[in-house]
Amino acid sequence: RFITFEGGEGVGKSTQIRRLAASLNNLGVQTLMTREPGGSPHAEKLREVLLSGGAKPFGPFAETILFNAARDDHLEATIRPALAQGIWVLCDRFIDSTRAYQGVLGEIEPDLIRSMERVVVGNTMPDLTLILDLPARDGLARARARSAQADRFEAESLSFHEKLREAFLAIAEYEPKRCAVINALGTPDAVAAVILSVVRRRLAK
Ligand code: C5P
Repeated sequence: RFITFEGGEGVGKSTQIRRLAASLNNLGVQTLMTREPGGSPHAEKLREVLLSGGAKPFGPFAETILFNAARDDHLEATIRPALAQGIWVLCDRFIDSTRAYQGVLGEIEPDLIRSMERVVVGNTMPDLTLILDLPARDGLARARARSAQADRFEAESLSFHEKLREAFLAIAEYEPKRCAVINALGTPDAVAAVILSVVRRRLAK
């Protein structure tokens, strides 16, 4: 099974992915936690290049290509081999981050985003995508509290984060069979319990 975690900044993806992995392990399911950009040696190098940001980050077209290049390697080196062994893969960000950040916010044509997605991902689509949702203001406050040295995305304006939230919610509405929106405002325990129940219901575990 392949489960992806998506959402804006500061919604708690990395905490929740660890919580779900622990719960699944308790149920006897073997899991692999991974993340994008990154998750394989080559892709981690591309992550450094992509997130070093600085005064002059890549434009959205170059980003689209680089995120997809990283994803291609991540799928080949890490995700597909694990799935082939029956391991459940839990991935922090995947195609929906590209649709939202590069597509909606970067204004890269949806057709281009979709065709690269088809080529790179092929049949390895997530079985379930958990979209962690928070009002933009709360996510931004959490993200800023976490890192004094905000990365370039976290430094963007509130309206950027609002558009990002809308983009993720629109994806969930468009693909309700694959996606579940999780209200991420509760305590980590409460959110983890909701996620586990959604996973058990949708993936029969
Ligand atoms: O998941 P995390 O917040 O660590 O992601 C790292 C950064 O990369 C984030 O700031 C996110 O906004 C950005 N990103 C992006 N496009 C993607 C994936 C991540 O701009 N496709």
